[in-house]
Amino acid sequence: MGRISHWIDGKPWDGVPARHGEVYDPATGEVTGQVDFAGPTEVDLAVDSAARAFPGWRDTSLAARSRVLFAFRELLNTHRDELAAIVTAEHGKVLDDAAGEVGRALENAEFACGIPALLKGGFSENASTRVDVYSLRQPLGVVGVISPFNFPAMVPLWFVPIAIACGNTVVLKPSEKDPSASNFVAELWARAGLPDGVLNVLHGDKVAVDGLLTHPTVRGISFVGSTPVARYVYETATSHGKRVQALGGAKNHMVVLPDADLDLAADAAVSAGFGSAGERCMAVSVVVAVDPVGDELVEKVRARIADLHVGDGRRPGCQMGPLVTGAHRDKVASYVETGVAEGASLVVDGRGHPIDGEPGGFWLGPTLFDHVKPEMTVYTDEIFGPVLSVVRASSYAAAVDLVNANPYGNGTAIFTNDGGAARRFQNEIEVGMVGVNVPIPVPVAYYSFGGWKASLFGDSHAYGPDGLHFYTRTKVVTSRWLDPSHGGVNLGFPRND
Ligand code: NAD
Repeated sequence: MGRISHWIDGKPWDGVPARHGEVYDPATGEVTGQVDFAGPTEVDLAVDSAARAFPGWRDTSLAARSRVLFAFRELLNTHRDELAAIVTAEHGKVLDDAAGEVGRALENAEFACGIPALLKGGFSENASTRVDVYSLRQPLGVVGVISPFNFPAMVPLWFVPIAIACGNTVVLKPSEKDPSASNFVAELWARAGLPDGVLNVLHGDKVAVDGLLTHPTVRGISFVGSTPVARYVYETATSHGKRVQALGGAKNHMVVLPDADLDLAADAAVSAGFGSAGERCMAVSVVVAVDPVGDELVEKVRARIADLHVGDGRRPGCQMGPLVTGAHRDKVASYVETGVAEGASLVVDGRGHPIDGEPGGFWLGPTLFDHVKPEMTVYTDEIFGPVLSVVRASSYAAAVDLVNANPYGNGTAIFTNDGGAARRFQNEIEVGMVGVNVPIPVPVAYYSFGGWKASLFGDSHAYGPDGLHFYTRTKVVTSRWLDPSHGGVNLGFPRND
C-alpha cells in the first residue's frame, strides 16, 4: 500500500502527517493507498513555496514559458496511458473513458502553448495627440485550484496550464478520493522544466481548502465540486479579498422532441446517463420526453441498458465501472428506494445488473425511472450516479419551462431534426452549455466551460478565453514621451484631443 504525499517545492514532502485518508480501488473495494492530509503548517509550506517562485516565474519570458508548456504537452501525450491507468485504479471509470479524460486535458495544455499570442494586449497609437495607450495582462500571483473526484486528471488541467502560462504560481488541492493523478502530473511538469515551486500539490480535506481560502498570500481560487461547497468557497474566499470562480453541481436535462431520431436519442441518453457511472457534471440525469414519444423512447433506452457491460474498468469490453466509494454507492442506491416510494415507475433496477468484477467492488448497475415528477427527490437532487429519470412533457414549451425552473444550469441538450426548434431552444434555455443532438456538450479548449445559476458562482467560466481573463489583471498605460510640444501647467482634466 503506497503513501501519497504532498508535492512541495518540486519534490515529495517528507514530513510526518498529523492526519491521513484512505484511497480505494473501487473495483475491488480494497484500500490501495494512504494520502497525507495537510494541516495549516503544510498549507503555509506550499503557499510559501509558490510565493517564492512567483517573482522569477512572472519575469520568465513568454518564449521560455511556452517552451515548458510544449515540453509538458509532449510528456503528457507520451504518458497518457499511464495516467489513464492511474485514474481507473482510484476512480473506477473504465480505461477507455479515462483515456478520453486525459485527451481533453491534453487539449487544455495545447491551448496554453499559444500563450505568447494569447497574452497580446491592445495598442492605440496617437489615442490623443502624441499620446499612446496600451494594455498589459499581468498574473495575479499565487492561485489555488481545488478539484473534485470525478475528473482527477482533466479538471486540474482545466486550470493549471493556463494559470502557469499566464505567469502565476499554483497550489493544487485535488480530491482526497483519487489523489495520485495530480502527483503524476506534477512530476511531468518538473520533467518539462517547470521551476520548483511554480506548481505545488497539497492533499487533504476541508482543512487544506480552508487554509487556501483564507491565506493572505493566495490571490485567486478556482474551484470545482458540489454546489453547497462551491457556494461556501465563493463566499469565504471573496470575503478574504480573492478573485473566485467556483463551479458547482448539475442536473442536466436532455429534451427529446417528437421529430427526433429516437434511436440516436436513446443511444445518447444511455451513453450520457451511464458513462462514468453517471459521475460526470455533464451527465444526462433527466430525459424530457415530449409527447407522444415517451413510451417508445423509454423502451429503446431500457433495451440498451440490458446490454450494458458493467464491471472492472480494466477488463476488456467493460463499458461502466463501479462508483467511487462504498459510501457514495450506498447513497446512490438509496435513491432507487426513494424513487419507488415517491411513486416513480422503476423500469430498470440497477441493483440486479450482472457485474464483471470482484464482489467487494462498489457496484451499482444502471437504473431507469419513468414518469418522474419535478417534486420527487430523484428529480430535485443531484444523485451523481447511474440513475436516469424520464419526465414526460406535454409540449416543447413545457419542456423548456421545466429546464428553466431547475436551480442548476450546467449543461443541456435537445434532440430534434427541426433546425428552427433547436435555434429557439439555444436562445431560450437558461443553461450555460447547450448541445444540439450532442448529449455532453463540453466545449473545446478554445471556448470556455461553465454553467449558469447554481452551477457556477463568480463570473468567469473555466479555461479558454475566460481562463486567460481570470488568471490575469489588466493594466492600461497612457504614455507620452517628451517632444518639443510638451510643457505648460494645465489643471483641467486630461482631454482627449
Ligand atoms: P465535493 O464538493 O465533495 O469536493 C470538491 C472538493 O472540495 C474536493 O477537493 C474536496 O476535498 C473539497 N471539499 C469537500 N467538502 C468540503 C468542505 N465542506 N469544505 C471545503 N472543501 C471541501 O465534490 P466531489 O464529490 O469531489 O465532486 C462531485 C461534484 O462536483 C458534483 O456535484 C459534480 O456535479 C461537481 N462537478 C462540477 C463540475 C463543473 O464543471 N460544474 C465538474 C466536475 C464535478
